[in-house]
Amino acid sequence: MPIYEFKCKKCGNVFEEIFRSSSEKIAVSCPVCKSKKAEKMMSVFGGKIGNTMPGGCSSCSATSCSTS
Ligand SMILES: [Zn+2]
Repeated sequence: MPIYEFKCKKCGNVFEEIFRSSSEKIAVSCPVCKSKKAEKMMSVFGGKIGNTMPGGCSSCSATSCSTS
């Protein structure tokens, strides 16, 4: 199941929503302020953000780590 991370534009709260399918209509509301003005961020797995930069592999010593 895809997990999407959202950031509330009203209060800045960041929360995750799990969708049963990638085609499911995205209509989320902030769990804190109930605002529906949340912007979708990059999908994350395991809470890691910003680890998709090419050549940014820091978890292994290989020169070309392309596992995805
Ligand atoms: Zn909010």
